[in-house]
Amino acid sequence: MVSRVIPVDPFDLVIFGGTGDLARRKILPGLYRRFVAGQMPEDARIIGAARSDLADESYRADIREALVEFIGKGKLSEEQMAAFLSRLHYVAIDATGESGWKALAALMRENVVRAFYFSVAPGLFGELAERLHAHGVANSESRIVIEKPFGRDLESARELNRTLAAHFDETQIYRIDHYLGKETVQNLMAVRFGNVLFEPLWNSQYVDHIQITVAETVGVGGRGGYYDRSGAMRDMVQNHLMQLLCLIAMEPPARFEPDEVRDEKLKVIRALEPVERDDIVRGQYAAKGKIASYHADVDDDDSITESFIAMKLHVSNWRWAGTPFYVRTGKRLRARQSEIAVVFKDAPHSIFGAAAGRHRNILTIRLQPNEGMTLGVTIKEPGPGGMRLVDVPLDMSFADALGPDADEIPEAYERLVMDVMRGNQTLFMRGDEVEAAWAWTDPIIEGWERREDAPVPYEPGSSGPEESAMLLHRENRRWREIRE
Ligand code: NAP
Repeated sequence: MVSRVIPVDPFDLVIFGGTGDLARRKILPGLYRRFVAGQMPEDARIIGAARSDLADESYRADIREALVEFIGKGKLSEEQMAAFLSRLHYVAIDATGESGWKALAALMRENVVRAFYFSVAPGLFGELAERLHAHGVANSESRIVIEKPFGRDLESARELNRTLAAHFDETQIYRIDHYLGKETVQNLMAVRFGNVLFEPLWNSQYVDHIQITVAETVGVGGRGGYYDRSGAMRDMVQNHLMQLLCLIAMEPPARFEPDEVRDEKLKVIRALEPVERDDIVRGQYAAKGKIASYHADVDDDDSITESFIAMKLHVSNWRWAGTPFYVRTGKRLRARQSEIAVVFKDAPHSIFGAAAGRHRNILTIRLQPNEGMTLGVTIKEPGPGGMRLVDVPLDMSFADALGPDADEIPEAYERLVMDVMRGNQTLFMRGDEVEAAWAWTDPIIEGWERREDAPVPYEPGSSGPEESAMLLHRENRRWREIRE
């Protein structure tokens, strides 16, 4: 594979929350991998910032441990790790107070990209933006990276957008949705817009329906407090599933440029119809054997927060009128699986008769595990005995197709962080996109909160509540199986 990587300018990247879980598990291991891949410029620096009082050396020792834990000792070279860690610095700073800001300002260099990653609790985003500005740490060229969740409803998202806009231009703001950093998600755009094969069929005339599934096996774990205030709709649908739906449904942008792509995504969100009550199934996992119930996990027997949601959505425009989008996501399901399935319509007439059965082309885009795509095509079953049809996959697993280079595919976070350094906003959400997503989500959530609708229980290790299966059965369709 010939590498045509766009070079990155020298940078100072400050990670607020540099000692936190996300920084240790994703951001810094991702940066290390880009460093090893030779993509980090000679004089790039990473500055961890949090309240704990740490010397540079202690911070480096902590991040060394994180690299060993999250990349694996066997995959690390002592020499490269030492070189990478020497780029790390640390400043003790309080996002809500005045301590540490002078030291940070003094550390920043002129004439390099200044980027600030807000890997702290969302309640601190506004304070950080204000202080970065007030203390002269950020300049008009600086970039800020905002983690999820971006608000918990339209009002709070607007408020946050306003606060950020008071200090930063939209071109400086990078709102992360790590699903957009996944290789397959970008491949979805390559497949749609780089081939003539799919786009002519990519509409309600040929597509029967689309399924988007993001299934997790884990429960709410240590995030119970946060999760119970959010639920699957806020935590997954408003952002990740919505972004996937946008990329599937959007019109071809004229160019693969940030605003052109985001304009098209925004049109999709605005074309989403309100959802009928009958088209939503909310579930909550029950206990099974040693597996605790959702109620036990969040320590609240009265919680009516959903850990599963399935919905039937309509994108109301010329391309998609009449083609439903079924989306579902949940915790404690049978397998960890994220995929998009484009289910095409039956051939208009079967020349093989009823005995040949019903066969459909399905394009499956797998996000995890084993990123890749499969196109199901119908062929003749080999051998004598008449024309019997069988569906076989045309499989494109990236690991197989790209051979050893597949290991080089950057993970979502590392790609996104490097895109920030390159100043490329294509894979980041624009403020109006996030607001439009909340504007669609809010009335749905308000409806069930007002009625105090309780979710239906489902068994851990299942595919969710029976009612979710019924959502499709009643229309003579069925969900694809959730399995490894
Ligand atoms: P975390 O483990 O609780 O880490 C929080 C970090 O913020 C720590 O480094 C903490 O260090 C620092 N901090 C707390 N208060 C501070 C203050 N007043 N001033 C400066 N630093 C402060 O949280 P996390 O899981 O890494 O999550 C960080 C952000 O990423 C959150 O917005 C979360 O929603 C988002 N996110 C996380 C994940 C994930 O997998 N973890 C996934 C998606 C999104 P000190 O206590 O020393 O200050």
